[in-house]
Amino acid sequence: MDLQLQNKNIIITGGLKGIGGGITLSLAKEGAIPIIISRTENKAFEEKLQKITKNYAIYYFDLKNHQEIEKLTKNILQKFPNIYALVNNAGMNDNLDILQTPVKKLIESYENNLFHYYELTRILFPSIQKNQGNILNIVSKTGITGQGKTSAYASAKAAQIGFTREWACAFAKDNVRVNAIAPAEVMTPLYEKWLQNFKDPKAQYNNIASKIPLGKRFTTIEEIADFATFIISPKSSHTTGQIFHIDGGYVHLDRALNWD
Ligand code: NAP
Repeated sequence: MDLQLQNKNIIITGGLKGIGGGITLSLAKEGAIPIIISRTENKAFEEKLQKITKNYAIYYFDLKNHQEIEKLTKNILQKFPNIYALVNNAGMNDNLDILQTPVKKLIESYENNLFHYYELTRILFPSIQKNQGNILNIVSKTGITGQGKTSAYASAKAAQIGFTREWACAFAKDNVRVNAIAPAEVMTPLYEKWLQNFKDPKAQYNNIASKIPLGKRFTTIEEIADFATFIISPKSSHTTGQIFHIDGGYVHLDRALNWD
């Protein structure tokens, strides 16, 4: 199937690593032009990307600085005036428990995880609309299920789900689609780091994997990325306002079925 992504300019935040990195590579394989916004160099990843395409751009920027996003996008739009899609992905689970987290820290967490989703969408919308493109938000199951010790992150992810539905309504008249992918457990550099907080990371991994109905394994980065690429593509032209759970049934299936 030709996904019709050839030469389309697509912005991916956090697109040098993990899920965002996977989406960058998958889009590049389809001939799209990845425009990556991320804060830390990743030469090993860039070498991988260069084997697929030389047609990409990287802007190093810490997205927590939401007041500076307008300046950043001005630079990007000067070079790439036609943005087809925006993938809001950069973020991390910072495990801030409500009882230890005053509002100041909550706001800092939202600066890292939430405000840039809003600000990039707001500023890039005119270009995306001109190109009849779309927006994809990478959210998290925690925005629906909660997790118990991560008030800031879980509520930021819930807000991103709200944004997805709200923007899908707001932009439907402009024929701009807005969707979200809610991963559950994906082995990324961030996840590997989080596992190191446990005395026995391997046992913790096995415990979580055993609760995932389909295959009792984590979702791969490629499974998220290839789905994202289809949803972003014009082949998915009548899909909007959806929260897709690419998670091996983790959120929606009755786990009792898998007790053995
Ligand atoms: P990751 O491996 O840490 O990759 C995220 C990338 O985004 C990193 O390159 C990181 O830069 C960059 N980034 C983070 N905050 C940034 C900021 N403020 N400014 C610029 N760049 C920033 O994380 P991941 O696991 O792929 O997570 C990607 C998305 O998926 C996140 O929104 C996360 O909430 C969501 N998610 C992941 C899982 C999972 O199981 N992995 C589950 C549910 C949802 P650095 O290299 O500098 O850290």
